[in-house]
Amino acid sequence: SEQGIYYALDLGGTNFRVLRVQLGGQRSILEPDVERQPIPQHLMTSTSEDLFDFIASSLKEFVEKEGDGSDTSLMRRRELGFTFSFPVKQTSVSTGILIKWTKGFGIEDTVGREVSECLEQAMARKGLNMRVAALVNDTVGTLALGHYHDPDTIAAVIIGTGTNACYLERTDAIIKCQGLLTTSGGMVSFLYVSRQTSSDSLSDELIYFVIYLLTLTHLHLHQVVNMEWGNFWSSHLPRTSYDIELDADSPNPNDQGFEKMISGMYLGDIVRRVILRMTPLMAEMHEDDSPELTEVARILKDTLEIPDVPLKVRKLVVKVCDVVTRRAARLAAAGIVGILKKIGRDGSGGITGGRRSDIKMKRAVVAIEGGLYTSYTMFREYLHEAMIEILGEEAAEHVILMVTEDGSGVGAALLAATHSSDRVDNVQLL
Ligand code: ADP
Ligand code: MG
Repeated sequence: SEQGIYYALDLGGTNFRVLRVQLGGQRSILEPDVERQPIPQHLMTSTSEDLFDFIASSLKEFVEKEGDGSDTSLMRRRELGFTFSFPVKQTSVSTGILIKWTKGFGIEDTVGREVSECLEQAMARKGLNMRVAALVNDTVGTLALGHYHDPDTIAAVIIGTGTNACYLERTDAIIKCQGLLTTSGGMVSFLYVSRQTSSDSLSDELIYFVIYLLTLTHLHLHQVVNMEWGNFWSSHLPRTSYDIELDADSPNPNDQGFEKMISGMYLGDIVRRVILRMTPLMAEMHEDDSPELTEVARILKDTLEIPDVPLKVRKLVVKVCDVVTRRAARLAAAGIVGILKKIGRDGSGGITGGRRSDIKMKRAVVAIEGGLYTSYTMFREYLHEAMIEILGEEAAEHVILMVTEDGSGVGAALLAATHSSDRVDNVQLL
């Protein structure tokens, strides 16, 4: 039901986005203004101040172009949802500490720092009066927007420059929460007041705590789990020598193994490495003057393990792209099914058992965002194909993959609205 104009800033990969989102209440969002620009390469490994100054400048320019005739001086301080898609230790709804950089970023002096503060300081340097009302991961923003449009949304997946996912988990299934229960209502305010205010009196906190305990016993409360699945690893993953070399040459070796087999930043590099490896073999293949190109076929089959080779090398390149992309898409699909399984929404009846045919499957929506998924048709098709293959046709019909365009940014604006300082007294039960 939120209303008003909120801003968002989406930093987390190749492109950096600033957004202005107008909320009309009743699940209505007017067409957002979005500006995209690539992050200059040198800023990805420069200093914290350089990067955040650049972002703050772009944001300031964008804000100053508001120009819809309304008197902006009468407007309250603008509220910002900050999508920051790197591993963060979230310390409140609006703050968090950077654990490590990924996706080619590597600015040492930001690691261990509170990222909203970095941004707010840069905004202050640029004379921009704005408050970070929510610090969110892109998966969480995408989930928020997905859920705003469709309450059956249970997870969100990003497949762009990098890859990650988050999902809704029952609070009582989260072991980490048990410690929080005994603290002075930290989790209570997170869940019920949905904000961090310093003015909460002890008695208010106590009330929230009681409400929390009561609700926990009567409702299935949910929390969002940011999986950071890009860093998932298993010995079952089909890692090749190309993957091993790519990892060793990356700025973050031994990290983000799943991401390095799936996402847009790496697929082209895997293909390049395969083709590079082929070069010495090219001479041999070139000299094959048999009409059937049997030597070429042998080398490709035996050395590169690519059967049914077409005659032209061009086609071979296509084949390499196909293999690498198909593998990535199938791994991503396996990840999504993993989430569905974890929360008992894969149609198998979960731990309580029961035959597939006895169970009426509920609709489950997975919000998806990211250039690789939205722009790479073959990737998308392979992912869908694998979902059906793993879940079975019937169960797969109940799983809807919904593209939420600019969801990570628009969702952050939504979360900023929910946590804006206008709503201090707006305590709502979920
Ligand atoms: P981010 O938000 O991380 O910057 P995006 O969601 O904008 O990422 O996706 C950008 C990534 O998507 C690019 O790095 C590229 O790998 C991939 N991508 C973009 N366009 C295409 C395309 N036409 N085909 C395949 N991959 C694409
Ligand atoms: Mg993104």
